[in-house]
Amino acid sequence: MKSDQQVALITGASRGIGKAIAKALGEAGYYVAGTATGKTGMDAIKELLSEYKIKGSAFILDVADPASVERLGEELKSADLSPTILVNNAGITRDNLLLRMKDEEWYDVINTNLNSIYRLTKLCLRGMTKARSGRIINITSVVASSGNAGQCNYSAAKAGIIGFTRSLAREVGSRGITVNAVAPGFIETDMTHGLSEVQQKALLEQIALNRFGDVNEIASVVVFLASAGACYITGETINVNGGMYMG
Ligand code: NAP
Repeated sequence: MKSDQQVALITGASRGIGKAIAKALGEAGYYVAGTATGKTGMDAIKELLSEYKIKGSAFILDVADPASVERLGEELKSADLSPTILVNNAGITRDNLLLRMKDEEWYDVINTNLNSIYRLTKLCLRGMTKARSGRIINITSVVASSGNAGQCNYSAAKAGIIGFTRSLAREVGSRGITVNAVAPGFIETDMTHGLSEVQQKALLEQIALNRFGDVNEIASVVVFLASAGACYITGETINVNGGMYMG
């Protein structure tokens, strides 16, 4: 790592939006510390870093497991990596109508999508405070504002992220740390591939730009929020949804 290079920690950097964010931040000159849940994902991150000649490393992390977050902290420390950019991107869906929702589906989504933000942010905040500089960027979702039948668990977690973002922004602003959220609409990734043609057609009708989003269209907004140009934006949620929902 070059000593003048800022370290960006991106959770869930193996696929989809997180992978695009890792590539874009790497190309913007940050050292990329990307995480995945297993070896296949780690290999995907290493491949990305080598293909685009990005300085960085891959780590194993289960954001839903406090011990795994603690282990990541130790590994970062021993690699002398202190992230000043944190992108809380990892997330899952376990969709079901509330009446049919199992406790497991509720708790898994809250734990992976919301409790994780608390854990990872605490892990990085001390270093950012010391550096008197930091960017925390949380990936929420359009459904936090619009709601979506079958996603009470997911939309509750994603709305929770927005409240967390605003409160933490007030806590740490005086330390030179900004905290923002990005709320994607419908972006083509593994997460959304399961939808039927009928569901996709109904969704398209709600999108002003009349197409689904691309992962790079989220990554570019994250790069902006990480940049010096975004230094006076904090506590904000940026909607990137092609006009699917205008809050
Ligand atoms: P994706 O393609 O399903 O990728 C999910 C990523 O999260 C993978 O890198 C996965 O790692 C990681 N992950 C899953 N569970 C994890 C855990 N317990 N611990 C650590 N990492 C974990 O999803 P995506 O569509 O890119 O979504 C990324 C973020 O954007 C999520 O927060 C999602 O809620 C949000 N979002 C997506 C959309 C959309 O339309 N796609 C819309 C709004 C918001 P492995 O590869 O190791 O499994």
